[in-house]
Amino acid sequence: MKKINNTWPTNTKEQPLIIAGPCSAETEEQVMEIAHQLKTTGTSIYRAGIWKPRTRPGMFEGVGAEGLKWLQRVKEETGLRVATEVANKDHVNECLKHGIDVLWIGARTTANPFAVQEIADALQGVDVPVLVKNPVNPDVNLWLGAIERLEKAGISNPGAIHRGISPLGKSIYRNNPEWQMPLALKEQRPDILLINDPSHIAGNRQLLAGIAETAIGLEMEGLMIETHHNPDAAWSDAAQQITPQALTVLLAKMKLTTGTAAEVATADLGNMRSSIDYIDEQLIDLLSYRMQVVAEIGQYKRQHGMAVIQEERWTELLTKHASQAAGRNLDGEFVTQLFNSIHRESVNRQNLV
Ligand code: PEP
Ligand code: MN
Repeated sequence: MKKINNTWPTNTKEQPLIIAGPCSAETEEQVMEIAHQLKTTGTSIYRAGIWKPRTRPGMFEGVGAEGLKWLQRVKEETGLRVATEVANKDHVNECLKHGIDVLWIGARTTANPFAVQEIADALQGVDVPVLVKNPVNPDVNLWLGAIERLEKAGISNPGAIHRGISPLGKSIYRNNPEWQMPLALKEQRPDILLINDPSHIAGNRQLLAGIAETAIGLEMEGLMIETHHNPDAAWSDAAQQITPQALTVLLAKMKLTTGTAAEVATADLGNMRSSIDYIDEQLIDLLSYRMQVVAEIGQYKRQHGMAVIQEERWTELLTKHASQAAGRNLDGEFVTQLFNSIHRESVNRQNLV
């Protein structure tokens, strides 16, 4: 039996196992950026989905095996262990070939014993840590069954991830937590690692911390939290991902990390700064779009022999902006100056076309 790092890193009560990383590996730069930012957060396993099980077709389905090389780089550069989701024997073989440390079985796959058996068969002769998410339906036996199939294949240290179940109809959660499910699993298998995935339960950033706190309160031994350096721009599950800085703050508030007050304050500031960075990116995108429209208007004016500067239109716009600014708690003088500068650049552009 080939053993691959088959014990879990820290998962004591004081120091739960933290798995973090993006929902999906998107680009090599994105994977590396997030991994480097996670180094100081108390994370010991880096997650990233390479093959994405999307509920409806036509969405981003993952970068495929190419992304495994990026995870190898994460391992080399950061020392974090790396994990990804497998759903069939080809995924397993690719992961083993690329030295992936931890595999996980997704909720939709756990619900299918044929798929789980195929994965277990592909793992014969290799003892690698595998985490099994609860199935999408409230069936603890299906969850236990998947774990047992892996154990029969020789996986000596499987773990379980509680990620909630699909709600029927309206719910504040993306997946209802149904806390009795992990409790029932724990009762039958107190010997295996049980962690919580608040990201897929919440489906949004607002509910995340409360779920994580409940899970730790119920003595779950770790958390898997989706983390992205620019969550709003993520290619999948954007609404539920948090920045590595937000992760530091969340864990510190739960007293799960040993970060000093100064470290936490720096992370908190980093958190606020990343909102500013996102807003600035949007401002630049909008300005670039404005200049494109300005160039089109310039062409139109030229074709129709119209003057570039139309004074009364400009005065009208400035008055409108000043009154909008007053209603939004912005200084009128500041907004007028800003628009004068934007107008100057627009006139230059129109003179160029
Ligand atoms: C995931 O972890 O990215 C994922 C797809 O989760 P789940 O299987 O819980 O839906
Ligand atoms: Mn996800």
